[in-house]
Amino acid sequence: MTVRTRIAPSPTGDPHVGTAYIALFNLCFARQHGGEFILRIEDTDRVRSTAESEQMILDSLRWLGLEWDEGPDVGGPHGPYRQSERGDIYAEHARKLIESGHAFKCYRTSEELDELRETRKAAGLHLALKPADLALPEEEIARREREGWPHVVRMHVPASGTCVVDDMLRGTIEVDWAQVDAQILLKSDGMPTYHLANVVDDHLMGITHVLRGEEWINSAPKHQLLYEYFGWPMPTLCHMPLLRNPDKSKLSKRKNPTSINYYRRMGFLPQAVTNYLGRMGWSMPDEREKFTLDEMMSHFDVQRVSLGGPVFDLQKLSWLNGLYIREDLDDDAFLKALRDWAFNEEYVRQILPQVRPRVETLSDVMPLAGHFFSGVPAIEEGDFDAVKLGREDLVKLLQFLTWRLETVPAWHKEALLAEVKALAAHFELKMKDFLAPVFIAITGSVASTSVMDAMAILGSDMTRARLRHAIAVLGGVSKKQVKRFEKEYREL
Ligand code: GLU
Repeated sequence: MTVRTRIAPSPTGDPHVGTAYIALFNLCFARQHGGEFILRIEDTDRVRSTAESEQMILDSLRWLGLEWDEGPDVGGPHGPYRQSERGDIYAEHARKLIESGHAFKCYRTSEELDELRETRKAAGLHLALKPADLALPEEEIARREREGWPHVVRMHVPASGTCVVDDMLRGTIEVDWAQVDAQILLKSDGMPTYHLANVVDDHLMGITHVLRGEEWINSAPKHQLLYEYFGWPMPTLCHMPLLRNPDKSKLSKRKNPTSINYYRRMGFLPQAVTNYLGRMGWSMPDEREKFTLDEMMSHFDVQRVSLGGPVFDLQKLSWLNGLYIREDLDDDAFLKALRDWAFNEEYVRQILPQVRPRVETLSDVMPLAGHFFSGVPAIEEGDFDAVKLGREDLVKLLQFLTWRLETVPAWHKEALLAEVKALAAHFELKMKDFLAPVFIAITGSVASTSVMDAMAILGSDMTRARLRHAIAVLGGVSKKQVKRFEKEYREL
């Protein structure tokens, strides 16, 4: 048997370090067994998936050196590798499950579903809707079908008992069937859900081992049942521990930069980031901290993964990155790293329109545009003295903007402008006054290039990291303030 593993990202945002972490472990597992590693794009969420996000994910993984043998861009014998191009395959498989009595069309309306959930709640039952809850009299189903009511396809699930799933790292996992709902397999628009598409594709693509984040453990019983229904062998499952913030909470962009774009923009070397991701819950047999991807692949053993939540710590990553720069880069390699990073035509060209109207000599460029070539600016509390806002309002403004920017789906100047305008109106400030503190937070000075353009060029995670830094410089947000801010923010 050829070992085949995969990474299956959903292209709904910035390329996440968690995706790279899981990709790395799948790649190492495959290589350790002389197997193959596949990249599949799970873009069944047609509203949130974008081609831009897909491209960023491919670019980032490749930047990190995590190459795949088959995928949407390189092709392969099991394509297409993008789920949005495989719609007929899923419809066909859903039909087979209906015919074999393992799935059913469900014509329930969303109001009825709410009522059913209420009824279960009142009876003290788990909220998961079971096939028995959803059942309708035959004639009612026939009527709704005749009248063309929208419907979904759902899977049958046992009413009670325990489901036992094997996991490479965790041994057996037990889940009560009572908690497992009659999962939707095909949505009313005919698109599959993650569960159906994932199982069908893993089977058709010959995947033998699934290494994925532990947030998918609860899906495992449904998946196991689907494999049984289809009569297919199930790949071996392995749920990897989730990456954590230093305070042990789940790694989230609220607290830490999570986008690979950020680490790239910040000037981390890809080999250092990949090395650091390899240290997440895993260690080399001799425990050394610094190792190459090739070394990781040749010493890989999944049983060395420890389940205690690995902490993704920026300071440790910076320390490791420093080692790489100082120990591994000769002058030529250092120069090349700088070119790859920011001293290249593509990046500098973006900055020219920003500096052109504002310079007299070429030597004016660096003082003016230095923030495009730095991390978080060295600002101090006193830098905000000229801003005509009380301390609480000032911090609130920066905090609200950070929150708003977390949810911008496509990072373009127009989208950012819309957010800034909406918030300026909320604070009853003129744009200029609203932007004054933002300007200092982003560019580190009171006179520089346009702050809106700077945010657009710097990208989402770098922008938010600078805003968070400014908030910290201003003394941070106390627990009490967070509560107040969140309340006001929700009412926006
Ligand atoms: N599309 C899922 C994700 O975004 C894949 C999960 C899995 O590996 O099964 O993480």
